[in-house]
Amino acid sequence: TRKAIIAGNWKMNKTATEAAELIDALIPAVKDADCEVVICTPFTSLVTAVEKCKGTNIHVGAENVHFEKSGAFTGEISADMLVDLGVEYVITGHSERRQYFAETDETVNKRTKAALEAGLKVIVCVGESLAQREQGVTEELVRMQTKIALGGVSAEEMKRVVIAYEPVWAIGTGRTATADQAQEVCAAIRKVLGELYGEEVAEATTVQYGGSMNAGNADELLSKKDVDGGLIGGASLKADAFGAIVAAA
Ligand code: 13P
Repeated sequence: TRKAIIAGNWKMNKTATEAAELIDALIPAVKDADCEVVICTPFTSLVTAVEKCKGTNIHVGAENVHFEKSGAFTGEISADMLVDLGVEYVITGHSERRQYFAETDETVNKRTKAALEAGLKVIVCVGESLAQREQGVTEELVRMQTKIALGGVSAEEMKRVVIAYEPVWAIGTGRTATADQAQEVCAAIRKVLGELYGEEVAEATTVQYGGSMNAGNADELLSKKDVDGGLIGGASLKADAFGAIVAAA
């Protein structure tokens, strides 16, 4: 029923020239996908990515967006700027943005709303740190992050929202959440969506897992009923690895 989505988050990797090469290798690697395939690239590679992915099954996204429409915000990129380039998706609330660039649940909410208003599809990231998991507050925290990020987002707009559960301790560490841990939190997120929007929206919303997902563990993670895809960092930078994850979905 709901769509499985495998999305790459390239983070701060690849020049535009390198991006073109990677996309040339990705196109044949993912062409037979049963799931939706997305690549989220640095701003500087978006023009190249949109151009190269035209006529393919690869959808293009950005990794962040500012919440104001325009104005004196040096160095920022607005949702309208992304839409104008032909960009379809954007990530909001990635833990690296929260950790290193002082983003809060409130600014994640503002970015999410601005992106939706401009017509983008949004991948909203939530997830706990290791300390928070050890304190036993994972579910409470993820519930709160999800609720605040979606404040003011309508049920209609939820058709363009994906939630990515990314435990911070699993990102770039090689330490993947077990399939049961991923399932447990993805199910908790779906439960919050049900409380906020009702069963129909909750059942229709794609909830991804992210954090050291690779060709070797994707199958098991994606076999879980509430894990509807993945947000892939490191393994999305290699065409064969990303192709194998896409094939598992
Ligand atoms: P890794 O797959 O490199 O752990 O990164 C996950 C992630 O943060 C995707 O957004």
